[in-house]
Amino acid sequence: MKACLLFRPAPIESSPLQYRDVNVREPLAGEILMRVRCCGVCRTDLHVVEGELLPRKSPIIPGHQIVGVVERAGQNAGKFPKGSRVGIAWLHSTDGTCTYCRSGAENLCDHPEFTGYSVDGGYAEYVIAPEQFVYEVPKRFADEQAAPLLCAGIIGFRALRLSGIKPGGKLGFYGFGAAAHVAIQVARHWNVEVYAATRSDRHQLLALELGAKWAGGTMAEPPVKLDAAIVFAPAGEIVPAALKALRKGGVLVLGGIHMSQIPALDYSLLYQERVVRSVANNTRQDGEDFLRIAAEIPIETRVQLFPLAEANRALNALKNDAIPGAAVLTVAP
Ligand SMILES: [Zn+2]
Ligand SMILES: [Zn+2]
Repeated sequence: MKACLLFRPAPIESSPLQYRDVNVREPLAGEILMRVRCCGVCRTDLHVVEGELLPRKSPIIPGHQIVGVVERAGQNAGKFPKGSRVGIAWLHSTDGTCTYCRSGAENLCDHPEFTGYSVDGGYAEYVIAPEQFVYEVPKRFADEQAAPLLCAGIIGFRALRLSGIKPGGKLGFYGFGAAAHVAIQVARHWNVEVYAATRSDRHQLLALELGAKWAGGTMAEPPVKLDAAIVFAPAGEIVPAALKALRKGGVLVLGGIHMSQIPALDYSLLYQERVVRSVANNTRQDGEDFLRIAAEIPIETRVQLFPLAEANRALNALKNDAIPGAAVLTVAP
């Protein structure tokens, strides 16, 4: 099969992904082999490719927002018949036995595997996953519309949940990329007012178009105090600005897997029971709940398509805020 391989992390400007032929392995017990139709491009992929996340496998095929059809199943795998359209997301597997898994917090599992990071992902014509971690993709979404739902969508949804925002509440978004452009649609559906702070003019316009009450620069102060805010951008210097925008008792959720260093804070920014917390991965329950709600609303994703062979170019555009919405690699029609 054709695939994009990363042998050694490097700045995306040097095009570190190599488009090559690799062998397809057979699915083992409990696994399915998927023929990939498309794969969303996530900021986490950029962190993997540029080495902000330490390498876990080399070479690695990135990509964890994968839509395709079941080609073959291994032994004892029969949940999805051949030809079913399914989705594969970031959480490849968990041990199922640690204290986190047993308490309903499998997103924090002690021995997880991650798609496109510790096992090969979807920047390829085929990918393998345990069927218990594969999602049914709601019929109403076209393949390329569905792909960004699988990480940007699910993680944004978990961030919304952890923010504790209530209908009628005021919610800030810091950074307005793929995840925020989906999360705002869920927030608006819940009748939440959204205030979007982002450095890109194009992203400010998209936020307003999608129903934000206000949009401004990353460090600009929103016109009202916020009940909660979610930082999607991987920039630690946003944290003090976002805390300053919160009301007493407000919650700040940090949505990324990687963030640059957070500067020293005046305790007064945190005092009055403000809370800062991160989001790590998601449970399968988050994924299933989100995909159901996404189909009900229905969410409309804005996507920019790139051929699989041009994954470097797609990641470069993501790094430069040049994608309104989400980038998606098209692999097969
Ligand atoms: Zn576990
Ligand atoms: Zn992701």
